[in-house]
Amino acid sequence: MSTRNINVVVVGVSVAGLKVAKTIAALSKQGFPNLSVTAIDKNEYFYHAIAAPRATVDLEFGKKLFFPLADILQEFELNPAEPKHRFIQTTLTSINNAQKTIKLSNGQTVAFDYLVLATGAKNKSPAHYEGATVTEAHRNMEETFESIKKAKDILIIGGGAVGIEIAGEIAAAYKDKKITLVHSAERLLPLNFKHGISNGAVDKLQRLGVEVVLNEKIKMPEDVLFNCRVRPLTLTGTSGREYASDLQILATGTTVHTEYMESLEGELGEHLRNDWGGIKVRKTLQANSKSLPNIFVPGDCNALPAGYKFAYLVGAMSTVVATNIIAMINAGFDEDSTKKPTLVEYTGGPMNIMFVPIGPNLGVAQIMGIAFGKSFMGNVLAGFKSKDYFYAKIAAEVTDAVK
Ligand SMILES: Cc1cc2nc3c(=O)[nH]c(=O)nc-3n(C[C@H](O)[C@H](O)[C@H](O)COP(=O)(O)OP(=O)(O)OC[C@H]3O[C@@H](n4cnc5c(N)ncnc54)[C@H](O)[C@@H]3O)c2cc1C
Repeated sequence: MSTRNINVVVVGVSVAGLKVAKTIAALSKQGFPNLSVTAIDKNEYFYHAIAAPRATVDLEFGKKLFFPLADILQEFELNPAEPKHRFIQTTLTSINNAQKTIKLSNGQTVAFDYLVLATGAKNKSPAHYEGATVTEAHRNMEETFESIKKAKDILIIGGGAVGIEIAGEIAAAYKDKKITLVHSAERLLPLNFKHGISNGAVDKLQRLGVEVVLNEKIKMPEDVLFNCRVRPLTLTGTSGREYASDLQILATGTTVHTEYMESLEGELGEHLRNDWGGIKVRKTLQANSKSLPNIFVPGDCNALPAGYKFAYLVGAMSTVVATNIIAMINAGFDEDSTKKPTLVEYTGGPMNIMFVPIGPNLGVAQIMGIAFGKSFMGNVLAGFKSKDYFYAKIAAEVTDAVK
């Protein structure tokens, strides 16, 4: 049994970070009693973003999507093994590699032997909600819900899965609203998916009365905030067409949370991020720098392309990261960095399976290269997701998370 002190710090306790924290914490009961895990998140809750489209029309359901981390990490916190694992609600602001420390917005400095950066990405409301506390996030969700309810003419910009699902939910719930979905590409959904699923999505949105406009890019005014509140606004597309609406929803993709890398890039004199801010990684999911073998980056904040930004692929990345940290701990890498543990690589490809509900009763899907678009089967397959957008599964998983 090893008695050396090892600190594993996991920043971002969501799909990627929670699984890594849980797996590493379990190791402290299996031969490493002085192993401690510090989990850090800027929010006091785990948010089940996948179900955000339903929350636009069902507030009671939406409020259940925020799981307090104090509950999820209760057992974690109370683990009798010393030193205790802990959760700190605060924001990571910088990393110092020479000192192996991180700085937090609450003023604390925390030392690490291994650091996991799982800070994901941010989206505009109604995909994500501002607010570090459950109360604040609920208030924002409620205001968004009321705004959508009040709006008569809604413009949705972006025809990926999130834009389509939001359009479908709102159109199915409110028959009296005019809804326009504008997409910049020649067809909906990522272009590596079949034409059949894209065409099926157009067909089913139209059945709910949504106008779908393809090959049209909205010119985005720089000074206008998109916060999903009622306000009349006319935007112009590249075709010259004008789109007047009283509520606009931006579903054009995500922005990664990696601002804290700036100090580390300065310290090392290396570009550790790509042009959109994603942290570059090796196949082992270590940060892509010889100086950083003990920093890992699973999930949406790494530089893998858009096709990898899905919860089930992120889960597989977390397994790789946990396995590699355990291999390094077992090899004694934190004591002697000349040790060469055998690490595994992330071999998953981009997403090749998709279920897209379009309201509670319609939807499209693609499985093993077969598209279920206009057909009834698309509705049946998407129905597995639209039932509750995996809420029950996630609720069971997170509440059982760190036992
Ligand atoms: C509306 C929507 C629908 C989706 N639908 C699906 C779907 O149907 N299927 C699917 O597979 N995937 C879906 N996804 C994608 C999936 O949710 C993401 O791939 C997954 O959440 C990524 O997990 P993550 O842990 O990497 O990051 P995130 O879930 O983004 O979590 C990052 C965490 O880090 C915290 N954080 C950020 N910055 C800091 C900081 N500086 N300091 C401390 N903490 C910080 C955040 O508070 C957050 O808790 C959807 C996403 C959205 C937004």
